[in-house]
Amino acid sequence: MRVSWFLIVGLWALPSLAECLHRGPNVVLVTLDGVRTREFFEGTDPYHDSKFNPSERGVIFRTLWEKHASNGVVFGKNGSYRIASDVAVSLPSYQALMTGHSTHCQNNQCGRVKEETVLEAVRRELDLKKSEVAVFGSWKGMKNSTARSSRTIFRSIFPDFKSYAGDRTLRKLRQASALDRPEWAGSRKDRYTWEMGMHYLKSYCPRLLYVSLVDSDEYGHEGDYRGYVGSLRTYDTYLDTLVNTLDGMGAYGKDTTLIVTTDHSRGEGEGWTSHGSKPDTEKEVFLFVKGPGFAGKGITTSQATHASVRPTIEKIFGLRLTGQALPTE
Ligand SMILES: [Zn+2]
Repeated sequence: MRVSWFLIVGLWALPSLAECLHRGPNVVLVTLDGVRTREFFEGTDPYHDSKFNPSERGVIFRTLWEKHASNGVVFGKNGSYRIASDVAVSLPSYQALMTGHSTHCQNNQCGRVKEETVLEAVRRELDLKKSEVAVFGSWKGMKNSTARSSRTIFRSIFPDFKSYAGDRTLRKLRQASALDRPEWAGSRKDRYTWEMGMHYLKSYCPRLLYVSLVDSDEYGHEGDYRGYVGSLRTYDTYLDTLVNTLDGMGAYGKDTTLIVTTDHSRGEGEGWTSHGSKPDTEKEVFLFVKGPGFAGKGITTSQATHASVRPTIEKIFGLRLTGQALPTE
């Protein structure tokens, strides 16, 4: 049944490697769930000093600060950058990130986003193939924030039952993630999401790639501060790999803007395990952007919010702006 094999490949409809050419601006968006500005900017929290040897304390995103931050722009110092949703909870925040404004969503049970997301808009406006806008997500809730329709963009979000008949690497990673489950329900381990996303980036050069990671928030809810910090140090190595990968991708990499942020912060002191309660500080987050138009400023205290992410992506792709993009000055 040779025909059926071609049918399977055809249905999945990924581009061949030969199509991986430079075709204009690209965006890679990465979100790290529930990461406080304290750990991002300063490092480990003295409140938790007893959980670490002295040599383990201190800066967490070491490579980002030493190698990459000064080549881009970092928003969020001293509370200058905020989320756009009404509450510091994942799904409301991700929906606001994808739509450019606070939606009616107030909790993680609000269901699927009810309007076209920026990912869907970019595909429609630029008349891209489905495979050219791709999402890899660890947390199951990402399916309710990244697309209004389940058919518009390519998505691998837990639980992922795709066969990936056309790509051995994706198939193996997907299978491995199903066997190697985390302690918590509702997501797969970030390592698989990340590997799948990086493989997709290198193999298919998507115009818009979104990789969404969640281990950090899960460790937070478990009250495991060492695990939380460990996940962040892993993210630091991931981001270094990503920047190096893009640097090695020629014109495609040069024309790619990288955006890294989180969906919300967390509480302080013993309240660090949770988020979404009253304190306004849980809405204070960070954003790192690097790419054409954002080179070489480092930390800024310019005021901005997650509402500017969608317009920033629209601006990069030359689309009509639905709001105010991130300041470049
Ligand atoms: Zn959470």
